[in-house]
Amino acid sequence: MKECIATPSQLLDHLDRLIAPADKRCALMLISLHGLKRMGSIFGARLSERIIADLVAQLGAATRPDDRVIRSGRFEFAVLISGLRNRGHGVLAANKLAGILDTPIAIGSRERKFPFAIGMAFSPEQTRDAEQLFRYAEIAARAAKITQTPYQIYNHDDLAAIVTDWDIEGDLDSAITDHQLTLHYQPKIASRSGCLLGAEALMRWRHPVHGMIPPDQFIPVAERMGIMPKLTWWCINTALRERQEWGDPARDLSVAVNISALDLTDERFIEAVSSAIGIWDARPELLTLEITEGSLMQDIARSADILKRLQGNGIRISIDDFGTGYSSLAYFKQLPADELKIDRSFILNILDDDLDRHIVSTIIQMARKLRLEIVAEGVETAPMREALVDLGCDIIQGYHIARPMPHAAFVTWARAHA
Ligand code: C2E
Ligand code: MG
Ligand code: MG
Repeated sequence: MKECIATPSQLLDHLDRLIAPADKRCALMLISLHGLKRMGSIFGARLSERIIADLVAQLGAATRPDDRVIRSGRFEFAVLISGLRNRGHGVLAANKLAGILDTPIAIGSRERKFPFAIGMAFSPEQTRDAEQLFRYAEIAARAAKITQTPYQIYNHDDLAAIVTDWDIEGDLDSAITDHQLTLHYQPKIASRSGCLLGAEALMRWRHPVHGMIPPDQFIPVAERMGIMPKLTWWCINTALRERQEWGDPARDLSVAVNISALDLTDERFIEAVSSAIGIWDARPELLTLEITEGSLMQDIARSADILKRLQGNGIRISIDDFGTGYSSLAYFKQLPADELKIDRSFILNILDDDLDRHIVSTIIQMARKLRLEIVAEGVETAPMREALVDLGCDIIQGYHIARPMPHAAFVTWARAHA
């Protein structure tokens, strides 16, 4: 009898025995079935049990006598394949099992398919440790589920990113309610006088297990999950509330919040911004919304319409990462904007690369004609700042002035700077 039910420790014992002979190559496949739980609650547990028993029998029949099919959870199986000649044979086996799982199952008068995910890992080449092998197969199965592919083979480099995203997704929703998000502030100063004009609020997520997660990593996930409006709402309110604490000398300092193009797909965003301004008793012109040029290009007409209405309410609009979005000047003409931030990739080489310096100079001249304020981001040294002053850039931001810092540190910095 090669099918059996096992507890996790029995399964690991099996694996230990399988891995033990040093000359034997084996593969562990973890299969998870989705949708059966719901089926069970609609048609009763007996039916879902019968379906599982049938599947186990079919998987057993499709594998060789020495292989094992183990029920490792209510809707999970482990298939241990031993004596593999090479990885290719493991892939063949995965394809065979995927074919079985992909066959429709008759339920009453109808046929149904149940989604599944197979994760596979190999011993000895990936690990000789049973627990580790199990973990690798589990990660690969999660990746298969996320990527909606029938199976995935464990590969540290590729799968780590997919699974990290998956973990982020699970935790991100509660990040706001659990007070794991904070804003760091980076000063924006007048390039010539050095006068402090305001700060950009940059989101930070202190994850209880993974530590500080940078926005580049979790914002795309939040966009995919559709929770960006919630994050932006939190961000605008927190920035306006904290701005109130910037104290007397800082009364006219403006705060900039980054928004996502997805925020501009819903007209209610305009209302939400007005309401936040009302709640925190702010002057609209002291709030700047930064939006990246690249993301705007996705639906320029709609975004431009919403931005125009925000601008009509007195809020300042800034086009971020300018120069990276491949937008033509014809598009740019349609955009309501008060400020343009030249992407830091151009600023980085401004001293050594003539072409980048020409690009920056052209952007500055164009912006002047359009009556836009120009910000250079990523200014890291004094010579970079001097070059930008010579080219006529109005505002600078970057490590040369200060790195983004927690709110309390920014308040201290702003007082000292004044
Ligand atoms: P961004 O809006 O262009 O922000 C500037 C980024 O450049 C920040 O990275 C900042 O720390 C970094 N930076 C500033 N000065 C320098 C410098 O001199 N040298 C170098 N090498 N880097 C510098 P950060 O905080 O990791 O943010 C990355 C991006 O994530 C932001 O780019 C923005 O697009 C996005 N982001 C951050 N916070 C939010 C948010 O609250 N909402 C949304 N939608 N996006 C956000
Ligand atoms: Mg920005
Ligand atoms: Mg930027």
